[in-house]
Amino acid sequence: MPLNRALYQDVREELLLTRQQIAARVRELGEQITRDYAGRELVMIGILKGAVTFFADLMREIDLSLTVDFMAISSYGSATKSSGVVRILKDLDHDIVDRHALVVEDIVDSGLTLSFLKENLLSRGAASIRVAALLDKPDRRKVDLRGDYIGFTIPDAFVVGYGLDYNQRYRNLPDIGVLKPEIYEE
Ligand code: 5GP
Repeated sequence: MPLNRALYQDVREELLLTRQQIAARVRELGEQITRDYAGRELVMIGILKGAVTFFADLMREIDLSLTVDFMAISSYGSATKSSGVVRILKDLDHDIVDRHALVVEDIVDSGLTLSFLKENLLSRGAASIRVAALLDKPDRRKVDLRGDYIGFTIPDAFVVGYGLDYNQRYRNLPDIGVLKPEIYEE
């Protein structure tokens, strides 16, 4: 029986990705990143809070010398849609001049948050910036933003679990599911 069974049944319309599917894909992404960055020192930049689970799993699948840093941002908008107006709540602790930065994000939706972040980090003199995102919803893209390492392409639905929240809840669900629309339409 899965953990938090009662919680799932209340909020989840459909199971999208099991923890086994996620783990297998994260391992593949880690191997690909390890190959691509061979011989270079990497700084992984995690975007709080949604990406923490993916970040923690991904870093352990990367067999390279690397450092980690975090940013927290808030995006104005409703609980289920970002507006693209982004405010930095917590900045990086270290500078990234001449560093190879890998931004680790939970999901690319409109793409507005990541296009802001990429531009912001490039302006600080990084040697390169790539994006790893566990999930991608290309149907909802508003700007031309492509992730370099994408775990899964998913349909246009609001998902929770494995770090992803609705109103700060459900991040601890170990797999990813579609939230029942009545939960956020209430
Ligand atoms: P974007 O700026 O690409 O529209 O939005 C990116 C951010 O919106 C993500 O980092 C995430 O925090 C939030 N987001 C977008 N789609 C979903 C979703 O289906 N579920 C959850 N929990 N957050 C989402």
